[in-house]
Amino acid sequence: MRKEQNKCPSKRDAVHTCKKYGIAITDYVLGEEMDISREDLFNHLATCEKCRKDLDNWRENYAALRNEAYLRRPDVREKYQQMLQSIKKGETVMSQSPEVVKKEMVRVVGTGAGEIYKCLKADGPAMFIPQIKAKVTLTDAVFHQSLGWLEREDKVIVDHKTEIASLYRGG
Ligand SMILES: [Zn+2]
Repeated sequence: MRKEQNKCPSKRDAVHTCKKYGIAITDYVLGEEMDISREDLFNHLATCEKCRKDLDNWRENYAALRNEAYLRRPDVREKYQQMLQSIKKGETVMSQSPEVVKKEMVRVVGTGAGEIYKCLKADGPAMFIPQIKAKVTLTDAVFHQSLGWLEREDKVIVDHKTEIASLYRGG
């Protein structure tokens, strides 16, 4: 008997497959070692729009990370974090258009998410949230927004009762 299922995977299998590539995409954008080959990843990207969007999403959020020297400048880091704090408190950010503010927020949260992800990758895969916080250099607001973003993107699982965050490993 021929295995027709292999040709036409169920929706659940397809989602499962994409989760696997989701981890690889994250690693690829962050320049980390991947669990699968580049060929394997690119072959999947060629056929899967969802994963191409995932890649674009990460690339957009990590555009700033590719220019690390700029981001490491203390004045730049401070400026972004102050701006985000102001936005959180509902203050008007002087002379900044909403588009600029939104872009800066995405940049700050993207950078924070990268720091948290790398921390979990190095010392995890599961860590107590205050432990992660002590290892990264992020303000409270940026830390929580960044962790929330990783959670929404299925990159990290957060157990809010135990305050343990762990890398999503695709099951
Ligand atoms: Zn996919």
